[in-house]
Amino acid sequence: MIDNLPLKTIQHKGLTIEGYSRAAVQSYWRIPELKLCFDLGGSPWSFAGTQTVFVTHAHLDHLAAVPVYVARRRMMRMEPPTIYLPEEAVPTVRRILDLWQRLDRGRMQCELIGVKPGDEVQLSREHVVTVFQTKHTVSSVGYVVWDRRKKLKSEYQGLPGDQIRDLRLSGTEVSEEVRIPIVCYTGDTAPAGLDGYPPVYEAQVLITEMTFFRPEHRKEKIHKFGHMHLDDILARADRFQNERILLAHFSTRYHENQIRRAVMNRLPENLKDRVVLWL
Ligand SMILES: [Zn+2]
Ligand SMILES: [Zn+2]
Repeated sequence: MIDNLPLKTIQHKGLTIEGYSRAAVQSYWRIPELKLCFDLGGSPWSFAGTQTVFVTHAHLDHLAAVPVYVARRRMMRMEPPTIYLPEEAVPTVRRILDLWQRLDRGRMQCELIGVKPGDEVQLSREHVVTVFQTKHTVSSVGYVVWDRRKKLKSEYQGLPGDQIRDLRLSGTEVSEEVRIPIVCYTGDTAPAGLDGYPPVYEAQVLITEMTFFRPEHRKEKIHKFGHMHLDDILARADRFQNERILLAHFSTRYHENQIRRAVMNRLPENLKDRVVLWL
């Protein structure tokens, strides 16, 4: 495998979460078991094998590698990918791909699907993705991946199997869908993006941003630019029910050790063992 871009990886409950994310550099993520990527600010060679991408917003550090990814899949004779992105961005991204096609002479085959908050995307029988509003400086959304199972409705539980079968044959709906939020990816957002959609706090794995952490950075300014500060995370410490919280998208003005020391010193005990600093 060609190793063209940095990747950090963790495992959680049968899922591999791999990616890289620094503000103004690039953000890209992949969960191979769910067969999807989030954002493509860069396109690691290994990501080409994954056919579905969810883009949160059209900033360059989250989108710039889409043409590379689309072209690579074509070159390797793979199916054209499906790329979900905020609907306002679709016509412009299509034009960019057409312009690249003129320069590169390789066909930019892909399906661009515009999404808006409230939408649902059927990934497979077991998984569905919901789209929610985030707050950034351009049109932006976040995504939650849900595990869904059919479960016998509570009023039928305990009934013998043949009675359930008879009910089913008579046309009665005996089961209902139960959904569990397994992964949430917010992309870049001010705290309002977290607070406006409760499943963000319930997803087993939360991937979010914490671009700033130094006390001297002014919160109002950070929120205006659609980002978060360590203080925003601390103020919500009791709300995170997530099993893992991946904090990413740190500003490039910080050094890794600075971030690790400062953040770990200030995180309360109930977050420390769940937070992963994406460095
Ligand atoms: Zn960004
Ligand atoms: Zn951004």
